[in-house]
Amino acid sequence: MKKTETKKTILVTGGCGYIGSHVVCLLSEAGYDVVVLDDLSTGFRKALLYQEKLYVGSCGDAQLLARVFTENDIEAVMHFAASIVVPESVTNPLKYYQNNIVNTTTLCQAVEKFEVKHFILSSTAAVYGNRGSDATPCAENFSPQPMNAYGRTKLVDEWILADLHVAHPSFRYVALRYFNVAGADVQGRIGQNSLNATHLIKRAVQVALGLYPSMSIFGDDYDTPDGTCIRDYIHIADLAAAHLKALEYLVAGGSPQVLNCGYSKGASVKEVLDTLDGLLAVPLLRKTMPRREGDAPCLIANATKIRETLGWKPCHDSLETILASALSWEMKLTNKKAIRRQPNQEQVL
Ligand code: UDP
Repeated sequence: MKKTETKKTILVTGGCGYIGSHVVCLLSEAGYDVVVLDDLSTGFRKALLYQEKLYVGSCGDAQLLARVFTENDIEAVMHFAASIVVPESVTNPLKYYQNNIVNTTTLCQAVEKFEVKHFILSSTAAVYGNRGSDATPCAENFSPQPMNAYGRTKLVDEWILADLHVAHPSFRYVALRYFNVAGADVQGRIGQNSLNATHLIKRAVQVALGLYPSMSIFGDDYDTPDGTCIRDYIHIADLAAAHLKALEYLVAGGSPQVLNCGYSKGASVKEVLDTLDGLLAVPLLRKTMPRREGDAPCLIANATKIRETLGWKPCHDSLETILASALSWEMKLTNKKAIRRQPNQEQVL
């Protein structure tokens, strides 16, 4: 954006969280004015690198939303604030219905009232759900079959936006269906801050640093080549870039879209751990555990549409790059060292 142009103001809910903070950083560096709304339940104030304006509170707080939209001339909303952990959504579904549907509805009521025209939603591959042993990459027109409350609530969010567009055709949105996001800022400034994350790559690098004694593999009896679940892992930097592209697309007049964010290639749990082992001098200790409730056997993106619609191209699409990035960030966060593998020698980094 040229300095002479008026800065557009973007509201980022959940901007202090893992994905939100990377997008906030990119927006600020691209010249946007960023306003963040975050209740800091899982996010961190320190994740805002450029001291963006922060409102601490919930998307379910209509009064606070009225203040945010009155005090700022919001051009677009990027909505990251949500509950996102599949196993937790199985044991505590109502938390997901409240946070992901009720609070999103309240946010959309404010969007409607203040006539905001552009909205980008963090959606998820979990909307595709159980495709059995079918490893065909999921295209956006596949019929959704979510198999946990997380996936169901995000699908409802997509429907809310679709219905809002029908009611107000000038309101347009992009729902980005994230596959499995991992890694950290390429300059190492921000990353996944939470210490009790449950996601595979985060947990695996924590095991590599000795924060946990071993790596649990949740089920090795799936109908997949090595028996473990397959996912499409995407680097956070590529995912963040997709948001900027989606924003530019909407501002340029683009029609509503649902777009997969992934690399169109899958890796099993064992392949992820093997790749991490390849970076380390000492392989991780692994334990096979029972299947985790709510896990789909295989989720791979068909990512043709996002490339065609947004002109998005990934720059970091290698599992090794993602894992190295996640490991470096975790070392910085915890101040612990991993023994990395070097040709014919071990070197403590
Ligand atoms: N997984 C695992 N051990 C862990 C964490 C995850 O085996 O400590 C598996 C999980 O069962 C799933 C895959 O890794 O098959 C990806 O899970 P994650 O929680 O990272 O993301 P999800 O796909 O559930 O959003």
